[in-house]
Amino acid sequence: MIVDRAPERFAGGSSRVSAQGFLNPTDPSATASYVSSLAQGSLPFPDRVTTWAEEACKNSSWLNTQGISTVELDVVEHAEFAALPGSGAIRKSRTVSGDGLWRSLLGALHQMDVDVLYNTFPKALMVGHTGRIEGVRASWKPGSDLTIRASRGVVIATGGFAASDRMLRRYAGVRGPIATAGSTFSTGGGLRLASAIGARMGVTTAVAGPYAAYRPPGCKTAVPVRFIQRGRIGDALVVDGGGRELDVWRASSGWGRQMEGTRWSSDNLREVGLGWIFPLDLWLRRQGGTDEALRRRGMDVGSAMVLPLTPTILNTQGGPVRDERGRLWSREGQVIRGLFSAGELGSIFPSLYQGSGNLADCLVSGRLAARAAFA
Ligand SMILES: Cc1cc2nc3c(=O)[nH]c(=O)nc-3n(C[C@H](O)[C@H](O)[C@H](O)COP(=O)(O)OP(=O)(O)OC[C@H]3O[C@@H](n4cnc5c(N)ncnc54)[C@H](O)[C@@H]3O)c2cc1C
Repeated sequence: MIVDRAPERFAGGSSRVSAQGFLNPTDPSATASYVSSLAQGSLPFPDRVTTWAEEACKNSSWLNTQGISTVELDVVEHAEFAALPGSGAIRKSRTVSGDGLWRSLLGALHQMDVDVLYNTFPKALMVGHTGRIEGVRASWKPGSDLTIRASRGVVIATGGFAASDRMLRRYAGVRGPIATAGSTFSTGGGLRLASAIGARMGVTTAVAGPYAAYRPPGCKTAVPVRFIQRGRIGDALVVDGGGRELDVWRASSGWGRQMEGTRWSSDNLREVGLGWIFPLDLWLRRQGGTDEALRRRGMDVGSAMVLPLTPTILNTQGGPVRDERGRLWSREGQVIRGLFSAGELGSIFPSLYQGSGNLADCLVSGRLAARAAFA
């Protein structure tokens, strides 16, 4: 059974709105060297890296056994840290169908008749008298609680905490507000559940980002953007030509684009009309700045327009530490029986991040945790 706090229409978390790339490396030993170098000594269970690397090399073939076809991505660089040992084994792939990874896996789940409870918020893990995790207590709607018993174990796979300013401050040391580009349900619920029963935390500071983004009025998330860049003042990016020379959105991924309906016109005129892009003069008056630096660079400041930017992150990496079987451990150094984690919560990238690594980690850690629970 899967318990998801989101309503069904928002199902799929950040995985659903991601750019869909996952790693399918070619050689386990080289992959282990690479992942270990990326971690810079921040992963406590050495066997986790070797097991992970072996499994990651099987990502595509495992998906194929679920009836999901995959293809290697046509990118210039598969490994983003080419100087690190083992980088030559890194390969990025994606599913062939336009449905993407999450929808393809959801289809496989439906075929197996797995129940999914939406709108259901797990409040606490149930600990048996032997210390084993026996299930969760959840609230389904106000005043209506559920007890869900788990005979094999509970896998926490709630994503990270990129949508919680408070948790970003506390666990990742982020100062100031930062908008997420991912699921608005990534508010750290899983981290809180694990922490409440004394699970050991790993390094929690790593995040994917920050990137330059725009957060439309009324939207909860920001959409990463790329521009023809003409000049910068403070936290705004300035472009010439009545706003018309801005590039279009960089990608079709992101919660804003797919779940909040954020759209961008190809000539930027709609956005000028909405007042998202506005004259530099106005911006300088609001900020109390001057255009001197831009004039010195030879910019035509008279016609310059501004789109105020915000920093955004895609996701967080930190969380409770899991071992090579996906099991969580207590702060005192004991395995917490019946409790596992998977996905970006406590990912295998606590330091440097390799693009397409998170979805690879979801595939690998999900398989490892399920296998251990059913062993
Ligand atoms: C724009 C964008 C592009 C990206 N592109 C890529 C990419 O190409 N490749 C890559 O590897 N990574 C990418 N990432 C990162 C990647 O998408 C995430 O790291 C990954 O999807 C996390 O998967 P997850 O299963 O751990 O969490 P999620 O996919 O977020 O799923 C978590 C689920 O748990 C539910 N949930 C949350 N809290 C609770 C709670 N307390 N109780 C119950 N349920 C809860 C959520 O509703 C959701 O259904 C991207 C991220 C973004 C935002």
